[in-house]
Amino acid sequence: MNIEASEKLALFGGAPVRPTLLPYARQSIDAEDIAAVSRALAGDWVTQGPGVKQFEEALAAVAGARHAVVVANGTAALHAACWAAGLGPDDEVITTSLTFAATANAVVYQGARPVFADIDGATLNLDPDAVKRLATPRTRALLAVDFAGLPCDWDKLRALALEHGWLLIADAAHSLGGALGGRPVGTLADLTTFSFHPAKLITSGEGGAVVTDRDDLAERLRIARHHGIRYQDPARPWRYEIDVPGHNFRLTDFQCALGLSQLARLEGFWAARDRLARRYRERLAGSPFLELPALPADRRHGRHLFVVLLRLERLTVDRDTVLSALRAENIGATLHYPLAHLHPFYRRRFGYGPGLCPIAEAAERRLVTLPLFPTMSEADQDDVLRALDKVFTHFARRAS
Ligand SMILES: *Cc1c(COP(=O)(O)O)cnc(C)c1O
Repeated sequence: MNIEASEKLALFGGAPVRPTLLPYARQSIDAEDIAAVSRALAGDWVTQGPGVKQFEEALAAVAGARHAVVVANGTAALHAACWAAGLGPDDEVITTSLTFAATANAVVYQGARPVFADIDGATLNLDPDAVKRLATPRTRALLAVDFAGLPCDWDKLRALALEHGWLLIADAAHSLGGALGGRPVGTLADLTTFSFHPAKLITSGEGGAVVTDRDDLAERLRIARHHGIRYQDPARPWRYEIDVPGHNFRLTDFQCALGLSQLARLEGFWAARDRLARRYRERLAGSPFLELPALPADRRHGRHLFVVLLRLERLTVDRDTVLSALRAENIGATLHYPLAHLHPFYRRRFGYGPGLCPIAEAAERRLVTLPLFPTMSEADQDDVLRALDKVFTHFARRAS
């Protein structure tokens, strides 16, 4: 009886498994990062100085692309990619609903229509067959997300893009450092976007980038970033013109200094995340209460998020109650993501609703993101495992 009392869920007034909240993500900024930012701030340029080019060159090298264009954040990267792609009001872009809203919002900023294809229930990435069924003469681009960090089946997506003449855009906010068959994320689509928000794989405070091999797209990305300005003559920079209004998506030099310093640490961050993710998979593989997403052998997972799928038929409560119970235990578990097509705007503007992406809808009801970040300790991870055990034991559906 004492054991039962000690295991009373924090949700119901019991003691939590840990005294302070373990967040789902956390940046790692060290003394060298701070020194790099200080040096940049003490220099001649606060913005648009040499730090931008240095960060861009390092990023292009990591991503295996000819060009990198850094911008103010990951959303601006998606927006700049859609701008550079020349998307407009009569265009359709096939994308996933299991993503941060920014992915689909960027299509809307250009006046184009996001068309949501369903996902593969095992990998949680876009299902190429579902994409194929949604092709119309108005489809201009395919915008896929490497969900949680798992690179999509880009070979199949590319074959579709070639067949139909679509531009291929990757939202790789979760998968910087990932690869497919040894080819790095950044080489798998025509345009690839990254985010450097503190929750992501490296940070520049806020920040983002688009990489591409295509010179014409790189040129348009730079124009999109800087108001749409086209210079006529390098000797007379005061004479410029605007063909299409762009944006101010510039990233400051001191943010680039942080991004560059962090990029040098990417492999170390990845190794720490990968070790913890493998340990999660080992410990959770036998759990009757959840399933793990598939991890195809030809992918190097970017390890941004560690997500699990609850086996709701074995539990007496829904996903939200499990999240509330984990939060009460001071485990910052969360949901990635409320589906894009079910946001009020997408229902109102495009008439979308439940039933459009049944596999994504079924997955969303079961999804839980567990904490994962490079400085998380094994003791922290044991707290997560203990909390899961406690919550599952309490809410287990018992055979009658
Ligand atoms: C974080 C994220 C973005 C947006 O990046 P910001 O830097 O926060 O603007 C876009 N898409 C996905 C999938 C993301 O996770």
